[in-house]
Amino acid sequence: CGIVGYVGGQSALDVVLAGLKRLEYRGYDSAGVAVLADGGLAAAKKAGKLGNLEKELADRPLPTGGTGIGHTRWATHGGPTDANAHPHLDNAGRVSVVHNGIIENFAALRAELAERGHELASETDTEVVAHLLAESFSSCGDLAEAMRQVCRRLEGAFTLVAVHADAPDVVVGARRNSPLVVGVGEEEAFLASDVAAFIAHTREAIELGQDQVVEARRDGVTVTDFHGAPAEVRPYHVDWDA
Ligand code: GLU
Repeated sequence: CGIVGYVGGQSALDVVLAGLKRLEYRGYDSAGVAVLADGGLAAAKKAGKLGNLEKELADRPLPTGGTGIGHTRWATHGGPTDANAHPHLDNAGRVSVVHNGIIENFAALRAELAERGHELASETDTEVVAHLLAESFSSCGDLAEAMRQVCRRLEGAFTLVAVHADAPDVVVGARRNSPLVVGVGEEEAFLASDVAAFIAHTREAIELGQDQVVEARRDGVTVTDFHGAPAEVRPYHVDWDA
């Protein structure tokens, strides 16, 4: 439902939680976050209001890092439980993904992953993406390329945002039939389902086109289509009042 990603010099957790609050008006049944820190990935997710997630984070704080993602979920596949909340991780706990929309061919992908030995921990359509990204990243070593490879296999509607512990200063996103906006700041970048999530930080935005992938780093963003061809980006200035 609501998606926020961040890479930069601030605490990613603080930026992501504040962004999720700005998206609360959309309604949701669960919330979660993941941050990269100390060479690893740490995540927390809870059914219910953002307050439940904040309580969990107060009880079990995450390490501080400058790269992170967050999600408020409106369940379509699998009930509103902690396990079904996003982010979803691969079995090694190195990659983490959040998703808006519906992956229509998820059942075939789940079966294929199970055959290859993956253990799925949720009932969602989304979780297949974490496992597929982990496989692609381990063969190509590039998170944006892994996202392109995975997106070519997906059917349906999706906004996806992901991080990988072995790509510490990168957030990647992708979209088809569901919105994704990039915020470009000074030595920081934001990915979100709605500009409201980041206008407190920057008003320089890029709206991703259909079937595009973005790689965001502190020093800039790169946008391609699902096959890696550079995409023409249309930067704009968000001039409405926050
Ligand atoms: N289909 C996904 C799920 O049920 C994403 C739902 C959403 O857009 O929040 O987990």
